[in-house]
Amino acid sequence: MRLYSTLARDLVELPPPPAAVRMYFCGPTVYARAHIGNARPFVVGMWLRTWLRERGYAPTLVHNITDVNDKIYEAAPGASADLAAKATRWYVEDVEDLGLGLADHLPKASEMVPQIVEFIRALIERDYAYAVDGDVYFRVARDPGYGRLSGQRPDEMQDEEPHPLKENPRDFALWKANKPGEDTSWESPWGRGRPGWHIECSVMAEELLGATFEIHGGGLDLVFPHHENEIAQSRALGHDFARIWTHNGMLQFVGEKMAKSLGNVTTIRGALDDWGRETVLLFFMTGHWRKPIDFSDETMAQAAAQVETFRNAFVGSAANGAPARAEWEDFAQKLDDDFNTPDALAVLHEWRAAGELDLLRRGLTIFGLGSLAERAEAPAEIVRLAEQRRDARAARDFEAADRLRRDVEKAGWEIRDVGDGFELVPRR
Ligand SMILES: [Zn+2]
Repeated sequence: MRLYSTLARDLVELPPPPAAVRMYFCGPTVYARAHIGNARPFVVGMWLRTWLRERGYAPTLVHNITDVNDKIYEAAPGASADLAAKATRWYVEDVEDLGLGLADHLPKASEMVPQIVEFIRALIERDYAYAVDGDVYFRVARDPGYGRLSGQRPDEMQDEEPHPLKENPRDFALWKANKPGEDTSWESPWGRGRPGWHIECSVMAEELLGATFEIHGGGLDLVFPHHENEIAQSRALGHDFARIWTHNGMLQFVGEKMAKSLGNVTTIRGALDDWGRETVLLFFMTGHWRKPIDFSDETMAQAAAQVETFRNAFVGSAANGAPARAEWEDFAQKLDDDFNTPDALAVLHEWRAAGELDLLRRGLTIFGLGSLAERAEAPAEIVRLAEQRRDARAARDFEAADRLRRDVEKAGWEIRDVGDGFELVPRR
């Protein structure tokens, strides 16, 4: 299997199975209900783990939660820890409802502070970092390879964290001194404070996966400075860190309606409520993980329509396409080659058209869509109405049959006539 790596600027082959594949995906900063865009790295990470298992690998996925951060202090002055705890629960609930399970580890920054302090101490010892006024900064000029991931040149860089005593505007904070109004802080050799954002990920990844691991993922917006800084910190201690860097394209809001409601950001919860889990997952399949993806009422409606065609394939079960030479490997090749979900989705549609339902069920299950192949059981009362309708039709009492059909629909079910019998399908 191979994946495109931002660092190599090329496709990179994974070692053959049953190799261990250790993966670290940057997770959300928790201060509100998570934005639907945050679901993409989560979904890509979970799908990759499922696919690697399917191919005989031994994957481990770490997905971190940033629960100490300026954004959280700003959102809840004096009570950021409570907000972070609450928003962590929201996030876990929301992504769990996507039905893909959770990562093997969901570490929180606030739970790794002693390890972070140790890491910073080692950087200072090696002269890669310096303390100023209770802050600690990474000395970027000490790293000749800085910019290896993002291609940023020193003269193009802006000062992200201005401080009059910094040696160089490019230097970034590893530790930040406690300020008034910041309710979370820890003791350290440099005084009370809290970790910077970038150091958190270097430490959590290495604590849970080791100093060298296979895949580091996250949104394309994290390449610089976040991931550039993670690499600088870890390599400063002589660690190889991640081999393959997978950056997912951003989710873009398009369409008039979406543009108007920009202030009202669509959350994962909102998308689940509006469209349902299966449509949200299918929507993400329609875009290659590296490319941007357009989120709009139109693209979501298209995804919903595809969901229905798959569900319908398992109702009545009549194949209408030409029988094709269908094999699992046709589908597997698409995913093994840079995890191309749009191409894999096209194969699923071919199987649907050809009535290859066993393969289709197996393929959908990889993406958390096995539910489309399951038949929902209608309540006994609905089944009775449908039976009465069948009998009315047999007696050529079409008026009664129509009335019964409408009653069934009002109760949320649709009757599909199949041969001499019928099937009941939930209406959506
Ligand atoms: Zn990170």
